[in-house]
Amino acid sequence: MDEATFAVAGRALSIAEWDVSHRFCGKCGTPTQLVAGERARRCPADHTPYYPRISPAVIVLITRGDQMLLARNATFPEPFFSTVAGFVDPGESLEETVLREVKEEVGVDLKNVTYFGSQPWPFGRSLMVGFMAEYAGGEVTVDGKEIAEARWFNVDDLPRIPPRLSIARHLIDTFIDRVKARQSPSNT
Ligand SMILES: [Zn+2]
Repeated sequence: MDEATFAVAGRALSIAEWDVSHRFCGKCGTPTQLVAGERARRCPADHTPYYPRISPAVIVLITRGDQMLLARNATFPEPFFSTVAGFVDPGESLEETVLREVKEEVGVDLKNVTYFGSQPWPFGRSLMVGFMAEYAGGEVTVDGKEIAEARWFNVDDLPRIPPRLSIARHLIDTFIDRVKARQSPSNT
């Protein structure tokens, strides 16, 4: 699937999921009605509006010199290594989520956390907010349940990584390009 088709299909999937999951008011159980002129459903009894819900999540590429720390999630249907990701908790800033998720999942501290870009992700109706961050300390440790293992990888010795179209892959490819540019300055 190309990027444009993926974006359109993802948008359609998210809206269709919202529509079927908000047929009744969450407060009083009355069937909701579509609102004319905007993408919303509304309860006719207490007027509560229901808009498509988006769940923000952060996704972080952790680097140390020319290496990156990638983790293998135990729930992936097929084994591959990827960046660390997690949903934003209520009351949390994106920066706080980055530090908390990375500490929880792989046990390390970060510095120089910088925004990379974002990508709507239809599965889980999420908006993935990507960051690059540098390793600042701590020992790599995983819980063995959610994260099966996490390891440092050199850019020329990578495991199986996420497919194209994912922001995880964009993060990894961008870092590889930066390292290669550093290693062969005549090419820049
Ligand atoms: Zn209601």
